[in-house]
Amino acid sequence: MKIEAKDRLVEYGIKPSLHRIAIMDYLIKNHVHPAADTIFSSLYPSIPTLSKTTVYNTLKLFEEQGAVAAIVIDEKNVRYDADLSPHAHFRCKKCGAIHDLKLENFEAMKVVNAGNLQITECQVYFGGYCGNCSILTDYSVN
Ligand SMILES: [Zn+2]
Ligand SMILES: [Zn+2]
Repeated sequence: MKIEAKDRLVEYGIKPSLHRIAIMDYLIKNHVHPAADTIFSSLYPSIPTLSKTTVYNTLKLFEEQGAVAAIVIDEKNVRYDADLSPHAHFRCKKCGAIHDLKLENFEAMKVVNAGNLQITECQVYFGGYCGNCSILTDYSVN
């Protein structure tokens, strides 16, 4: 049932403990780019042995090992993404929801004059209003 999560941990050199598998499983199944607090509140009822510190430390470990991507688009909370394929993010300025955006030719994007900088990651963000919060939608309803 949680084989995918366990495999991901092993693949990235992380010892698959029960808590770690549960957190990775949550990230894979809930592709809403959750913050640590969201993950904790969702898992705690079924895993009472889980602590907030464990969730924070586990996410940090996942990130360090490259098993998940940390998204720092939200100024208050780091959000986490189990989808490691190249994609951009869109954050709603009103409700804070983060959506995936596929970019055409994302892989072909070229940096001009990187010099001796060794680039290891690239994060692309867009901001605006989601379908639920769109100002335009409000006008059409009223
Ligand atoms: Zn929204
Ligand atoms: Zn994403």
